[in-house]
Amino acid sequence: MGDLAGRLAVITGAASGIGLATAIALAEQGGNVILVDRDGPGTEAALAKLPGAGHRAVVLDVTDENGWVDLAGQIERSSGSLDILVNNAGFGTFRSIADTTLDHWRAIIAVNLDSVFLGCRALLPMLANSPVGGAIVNMSSIRGIAGGANAASYCAAKGGVRLFTKALALECAALGNRVRANSIHPGHIETPLTAAAHGDPAVHARLLADVPMGRIGTAEDIAQAIVFLASDRSSYMTGAELVVDGGSTAQ
Ligand code: NAD
Repeated sequence: MGDLAGRLAVITGAASGIGLATAIALAEQGGNVILVDRDGPGTEAALAKLPGAGHRAVVLDVTDENGWVDLAGQIERSSGSLDILVNNAGFGTFRSIADTTLDHWRAIIAVNLDSVFLGCRALLPMLANSPVGGAIVNMSSIRGIAGGANAASYCAAKGGVRLFTKALALECAALGNRVRANSIHPGHIETPLTAAAHGDPAVHARLLADVPMGRIGTAEDIAQAIVFLASDRSSYMTGAELVVDGGSTAQ
């Protein structure tokens, strides 16, 4: 038993890093988790790491509009409602604006921002049916609040997630559908996405110097904050942005 006992959660990007840690943390709190990722073998391996029963894996590219519609249909047929949606899948690469092709720009916007819109649009009716009130957590970044050199497409996408989430929260409140929506903004976190950067001593030292708490964050640090936003402990929070960065943006 836990804060999320019996609640049904969808989490994207669940095969690795923050998504995997969050799936485990949701399951530890008693949630039933639908792990979504485009990496089929990775998602099956992640499924095996979750405590408890009642979880399942779905292979989906989060930029695929029809795939989201299919997932909504599956949930509608199996349970008729959804309690938690964590739109976590995403990535970024460092590239100057001069070196950013339109295709690259569109790929970054698609995976980080279009996916959030598609997921929320497809699953909002299921979240509105939640008997406990739905909770959406959208993955932004400190790069959705402050800019970063050579990260313009990623910053544009994550900044878009931040304001999309506020607009969504207000729309849900106006509808009175009891769905809360908040964004989360990690700082420098060591995951497979950032392994190469942290494996380079010079880059690692530069990132560490940016963190007043003096350590790089872990996927579990973010997972616990997501569990908070997904649970009734944050019942009066909607349209908020939760920064989890060891103090980086407080400077
Ligand atoms: P990760 O690479 O470890 O995990 C990302 C997962 O998303 C992978 O399993 C990957 O297969 C999946 N994924 C990627 N594109 C997908 C797609 N189109 N469809 C379905 N699944 C897809 O990365 P992470 O560090 O855990 O990052 C998770 C999220 O956190 C991302 O949105 C990232 O931008 C954000 N974030 C990470 C950091 C950090 O320092 N690691 C900081 C701020 C924000």
